[in-house]
Amino acid sequence: MQDSLPKHTVVLLGAGHTNAHIIKMWRMQPIRDAQLVCVSNFGIATYSGMLPGTLAGQYTPSEMQIDLVRLCAASQVRLIQAQVTGLDHENRQLLLAGRPPLNYDVLSIGIGSVPTSLPSTNGIEVPIKPMQTFLSRLDERLQELAEKIPDRPWQITIAGAGAAGIEIALCLQNRLSKMSAGAAFEISLVDRSDKILKNMPARTRSLAQRVLEERGIQLRLGREIVEISNSEGPRLDDGSNLPSDLVLWATSATSPPLLRQLGLPTDSRGFLLIRETLQSTAADDVFVVGDSGSGETQPWPKAGVYAVRQGPVLWENLRRRLANQPLIKWKPQGSFLSLLNTGDGRALLTYKRFSILARWCWKLKDSIDRPFMAMYQNYEPAMPISETSLPADKPMYCGGCGCKVDADLLSRVLRQLDNPTTPQVLVGLEQPDDVAVLQPATGTAIAATADFFTSFLDDPHLMGRIAALNALSDMHAKGAKSIGALALVTVPHGPRHQQEQYLRELLDGSLLELREARVPLVGGHTIEGTQATIGFTILGEVDPASMPSKGRLQEGDHLVLTKPLGSGILLAGHSRALCQSPWMETLLDAMLTSNQAAGHVARQMQLGAVTDVTGFGFAGHLVEMLRAGNLSAELSLGAIPLLPGAWELASQGVESTLAPGNRAAESYLQGKASLNTDPRYAILFDPQTSGGLLMAVSEDRLSELLDRLGAGAIAIGRVVKNAAARSLIQLLD
Ligand SMILES: Cc1cc2nc3c(=O)[nH]c(=O)nc-3n(C[C@H](O)[C@H](O)[C@H](O)COP(=O)(O)OP(=O)(O)OC[C@H]3O[C@@H](n4cnc5c(N)ncnc54)[C@H](O)[C@@H]3O)c2cc1C
Repeated sequence: MQDSLPKHTVVLLGAGHTNAHIIKMWRMQPIRDAQLVCVSNFGIATYSGMLPGTLAGQYTPSEMQIDLVRLCAASQVRLIQAQVTGLDHENRQLLLAGRPPLNYDVLSIGIGSVPTSLPSTNGIEVPIKPMQTFLSRLDERLQELAEKIPDRPWQITIAGAGAAGIEIALCLQNRLSKMSAGAAFEISLVDRSDKILKNMPARTRSLAQRVLEERGIQLRLGREIVEISNSEGPRLDDGSNLPSDLVLWATSATSPPLLRQLGLPTDSRGFLLIRETLQSTAADDVFVVGDSGSGETQPWPKAGVYAVRQGPVLWENLRRRLANQPLIKWKPQGSFLSLLNTGDGRALLTYKRFSILARWCWKLKDSIDRPFMAMYQNYEPAMPISETSLPADKPMYCGGCGCKVDADLLSRVLRQLDNPTTPQVLVGLEQPDDVAVLQPATGTAIAATADFFTSFLDDPHLMGRIAALNALSDMHAKGAKSIGALALVTVPHGPRHQQEQYLRELLDGSLLELREARVPLVGGHTIEGTQATIGFTILGEVDPASMPSKGRLQEGDHLVLTKPLGSGILLAGHSRALCQSPWMETLLDAMLTSNQAAGHVARQMQLGAVTDVTGFGFAGHLVEMLRAGNLSAELSLGAIPLLPGAWELASQGVESTLAPGNRAAESYLQGKASLNTDPRYAILFDPQTSGGLLMAVSEDRLSELLDRLGAGAIAIGRVVKNAAARSLIQLLD
């Protein structure tokens, strides 16, 4: 992770054809003293050119996908998955839902285009965007059709007889004929134009028309769908209905609604107006690329080939803009090679006035698309950039108290935070003092815990959330009520504006979770350093008479775990760009799940032995409990819940740097030798970040506990008497 904050921030909004080129270039040649941040609505980007082929089964889904989590990790690019709500281009800030604005020096907007909006919906429609989820949404509908309509042909309507609609219609046939029951179907293509492929030469149109006829696809041209919600099927503008069980929406490209909300000039269709340099006509620091941009005088077709050709120009201009050098111009090419996949091993090629439908055209298309995608599917980590960028005005850094972040910066950040106080805070951040003073309820004891770690994700907002949850978790395990938190933060060296942004994101993320837990932030200490760290001291109150402890196990108790294991292995994999986007999604879900509800259940059920599973790994924490209670356990290895991807990475030998140390607990484990080679065995020693709670419960209350904890909680073993002189964990299959 970052050991210093650079001077400049380049932000990419959307990782389409042009912006993806910037990530690829960054991997090879990062811009000095700048960080690259990619804001995407998905952890995966899809390549539209291969979508029809994937639909037809010519490619696997992963062949048309760029895993942004892996590509960004390999390229040292910060990936933020968030919704953009607006743009403040005067202050150069991108506004994000649920997190602080993101400052940029230069921004490149490339969020593509979307089909025209649906006239109305009734659940039978499947729009092709977002493309990332198109196939899964389609398959879900097809599955429903297979169950609901087993005895007659399905009637499928495709709206839009442009290149996309035609490719989808032809390739869908392959998918349907491969379905297990060999589904019968009738496909109709509807378009408001009286021609298919209206911008293509006449010969291309007639060749395409011939293929559609050969394949039995009906054409309803010169007709527009005006309503879908009608139970008779989509209603057309002539008042007739088109009976349909499924409507695929692949109409012409229009602007995503977000583009109109950015406060930048647009053309009549809502696309952002750009100059020849790819800059917005109204903002020098904002570039607009791919389908999202539109020329002031000379519009060009919405096709990926234009977006691809803009890549090198954007790369050059981003660098020049940061260096205050004159920008270069992009000129759209006059014509382009179009290759439509007909799904039958052929493709329809058009270049200028020349058109041909042939097998070699498919081979040509395939030979262009595969190497193109391979450039973005190289997830080998780049060499780390050794050069750190210390700002010229701060050549030396002091240790001791001199390494504190200055008071002005800190108070500016604190003023921006939403940090509600409680009556228990006698002195907190509202009247800054040297110490915070909290008033615990009478009759309670003070509970205190401290937890901090080095930053393992390039996203301070997420780090703040995870660190807060991780620290609060100890209190949930102890049955304590947290009453105040003190933040312990190391902000990487760097320019003040970057430190301010970093600290604001970090504390805003922390407060999101602290507010949820009704715990005020009452103080802390923030220093500058070479490695970003974040943690909290949490103070709470607890009833000493009823608090659980690690050792209050009873022979015969069942052991219940509330979250799956494997976060350490996945994070180790992520540092080597091996953690796939869907794995990262479930990992984040798990780390961002608070243990508050589980702790509450444990408290209500007055469970005696509870702990949270964190750095020492599952085995280490279980051994602590068993030794404190002078008991042993039988553990069913097969029942241990794992995070998706943990098994795969463990099988490849990936492990956290702390895992070898945690293997000290190995001497307490016994079982068949073959179990030691099971990847789950390695995961027993995996250090967990914001891991789950491990609880012991008597046989008669096990099902009540599992019911109350809900999905995710699993009984994994039992507490037994010590057969030998010391506690042991007997591993079973
Ligand atoms: C089925 C189909 C087949 C096609 N085949 C071809 C072809 O063979 N050749 C060709 O030249 N053109 C083809 N096109 C057209 C081509 O897809 C587009 O012109 C091209 O994708 C435009 O590239 P882009 O980078 O502007 O946008 P995209 O490739 O659409 O990328 C935009 C990215 O931004 C992300 N995004 C969207 N909204 C947000 C948001 N609010 N915040 C953050 N991220 C966001 C999206 O998830 C996406 O990853 C095809 C189109 C379709 C529908």
